[in-house]
Amino acid sequence: MDNIFKDLEELGFKNLSDADLFQEKEQPKKKVISKEKEEQLKAQTYIYQRKVDCPVCKHSFHSSTVRSGRVRFQGTELDLRPQYVGFDPLPYDVTVCNYCGYAAINKYFKNISEKKKRAVIENITRNYIGHKYNEILTYEESVERYKLVLLNSAVGGDSNGIKAYICLKISWLYRGWQESLQALEQKDDALLQKLKTYEIVFVEKAFEGFKLAYATEKLPIMGIDEMTMEYIIAELARRLGDSKISKQWLGKVIGHSDVPKRLRDKVYDVKELIKEHEKKSQQD
Ligand SMILES: [Zn+2]
Repeated sequence: MDNIFKDLEELGFKNLSDADLFQEKEQPKKKVISKEKEEQLKAQTYIYQRKVDCPVCKHSFHSSTVRSGRVRFQGTELDLRPQYVGFDPLPYDVTVCNYCGYAAINKYFKNISEKKKRAVIENITRNYIGHKYNEILTYEESVERYKLVLLNSAVGGDSNGIKAYICLKISWLYRGWQESLQALEQKDDALLQKLKTYEIVFVEKAFEGFKLAYATEKLPIMGIDEMTMEYIIAELARRLGDSKISKQWLGKVIGHSDVPKRLRDKVYDVKELIKEHEKKSQQD
């Protein structure tokens, strides 16, 4: 069939075409937001910029801090790593001064002894090249920041218990990092394997440090009391594949007369995992 407007040519309307009759309404273009960007936008709603005065160099700066009312606590894993719905606040639990390199867990940032201050200036500030972090931290940056906290702690002469606690948290960061990668469509297996190895390195360090702290230091340390520390050591031993040592430490926990239910439940869960593991290794 001819063009339906052909008849109108004589009226002076040439070159009209059928195609002009019905026009599809143009769809608004979908905004393409990358997954990474999406995650960043989401993270933005959980944090705000807190003004901090560095007790070492006296500079003021802003540090990304989690809005405590926003995060929803879900419970703890067997090594007491806290879990939250949809957002991991752990990266924001430390403060780093970009001017002098002093870094500490938020809660303890302000309280620094004169002795540690001198040690930080002497051993950290001298070498430190400032690094400005984005408001939203990646796991890679967070690991770097926590390791700086650990270094500050080591040069500042902190107790083994404190250093072990920081190592435990670094192992949690490596686990969180792995989880974030597992959620991606394309997994980088080589990187995942590397992160798993690093996680275990820090589990090992936490295990050693807590054992020393338990034997020689006054508890509680960083809020960890005696039976909780026994429990953590037991679970870390299990993670390191040492069932025998793990059971010994669980025995210490149960030896207390006043073990709270939440800890008793966890002891039970760890025992079950050990049993499963032993059964499996007998079958192999
Ligand atoms: Zn400073």
